[in-house]
Amino acid sequence: MEQTKLDILRNFIDGTWEAEPDLMPAINPATGEKIAWLPKSSRETARRAIAAAKQARKGWASRPVWDRAAMCVAIADKIDGKREQIARVLSTEQGKPLPQAIGEVAKAADGFRLAAELVKQLGGETPPAEDPSKLVITIRQARGVYAVITPWNYPVNIPTEYLAPGIATGNAIVWVPAPTTSMAAVELMRAIEEAGLPKGVVNLVLGEGATVGDEIVVHPDTNGIGFTGSAATGRRIAERGAGKPMLLELGGNGPVLVFEDADLDKAADAAAVGAFSNAGQICAATGRVLAHRAIAEPLARKLVERAEREILGDPLHQGTTMGPLNNPKVAAKVREHVDDAVANGATVLTGGKPRPDLGSDLFFEPTVVTGVTRDMRINREETFGPVIPILSFDDDEAALDLALDSEYGLSVGVFTQNMDRALRFGEAIPAGIVNINASSTYWEIHLPFGGGSGTKSGIGRLGGRLTLEAMTELKMITITRTGA
Ligand code: NAD
Repeated sequence: MEQTKLDILRNFIDGTWEAEPDLMPAINPATGEKIAWLPKSSRETARRAIAAAKQARKGWASRPVWDRAAMCVAIADKIDGKREQIARVLSTEQGKPLPQAIGEVAKAADGFRLAAELVKQLGGETPPAEDPSKLVITIRQARGVYAVITPWNYPVNIPTEYLAPGIATGNAIVWVPAPTTSMAAVELMRAIEEAGLPKGVVNLVLGEGATVGDEIVVHPDTNGIGFTGSAATGRRIAERGAGKPMLLELGGNGPVLVFEDADLDKAADAAAVGAFSNAGQICAATGRVLAHRAIAEPLARKLVERAEREILGDPLHQGTTMGPLNNPKVAAKVREHVDDAVANGATVLTGGKPRPDLGSDLFFEPTVVTGVTRDMRINREETFGPVIPILSFDDDEAALDLALDSEYGLSVGVFTQNMDRALRFGEAIPAGIVNINASSTYWEIHLPFGGGSGTKSGIGRLGGRLTLEAMTELKMITITRTGA
């Protein structure tokens, strides 16, 4: 009975919205209420989506580049036209405050426009050959069918990072979004459909990653993988999809280093932005603050001040700056990390508790913890919540040692007035991004983004032309002059 009262989401396969018999509930994280039913799709459904993409890929790849670019602009226009509508769904289902959701949707439209611009410049080369009878050209071609799997923290922007370059370069796509943000995925898919993308070029399959995500990774008819999510799932995908070209954008535990000569207000502002935006559920979040002992206390006071300025509440209420965490799994991890730190001698300076009185037990207070040591989970693992653990160091050597003592290497912030030192740290830390005197989260969509080699943060680089290059094959063609 209850199922009939709520919207039942559908998959989008070969240009048609298809119902699936098995359903699971979509939950509003701010209230705990069921807000829709979503498909728990089968492997067979994923296989039909792959077949549709395979059918569509040749026709789409052979369309003129300018047509594909125009399609990306049309999608961007549709997204802009539905900005408020998509953002409301995103905010309700993901938990981020509405203004942040509106910003995310606006950025997605930018992402489609950027892909449209860049694909027009995606050329090959004509390298010289030693053999004088040869003319060598290289061209870039779509890889074919892309398996795209995305997480719930930026459920409109992260898919755009693959869908826009994928569509622009002539790939066909099967997209599996995170179940807890399926409604936002449907909204984005509708904008793409309404822009007039030919059937089968993008197919949306809703359901559990371990079933439909796994199917699109292992299936022999998918030719490339774009995955953003946790390091554990990324490793599994690397194994299951071995041999396919893949972009893996995984977790982080970004340190922000604050030296004794830093501007403490700016450092505190940046660390707070890095730790509290999106309730800390950002891969490039400020996962830990490493502070020189001489300024650790005043910095901690400033961080407490900023934490206490956050307004935790319903993401659709005006004035809310932080909403609930997205799902029980992430909320449990945040609580466990704080409890583990306290049990091992750390001190919570502010926050540290869930706030079920605000509407659901997924609300967690913005938190600052001091007295954190190396072995605590809050330092070693990605917390993915609104928590700033502070560790102290006495000199540059100890700072570097702390920064290097991590399995992750995604994004780092370094606060100092000493540019020599800043560059030394920038070069020494094996992360994909080092922001000097800025938040660990600073990035723009045309710039390189990805994990450092030898870390658990991923393989490859997203951003601007780099994604278009990654999603295309570089083919060499040689022409031999026959002298005829
Ligand atoms: P997750 O790995 O649990 O899930 C990510 C996606 O993978 C979901 O769509 C899920 O359904 C799917 N999935 C799960 N198991 C699968 C399997 N066996 N095979 C195929 N697909 C499977 O991650 P999450 O909790 O949704 O997202 C949070 C994580 O994502 C954090 O670790 C965060 O740091 C990371 N992340 C990284 C970036 C980046 O760009 N580096 C950006 C955002 C989030």
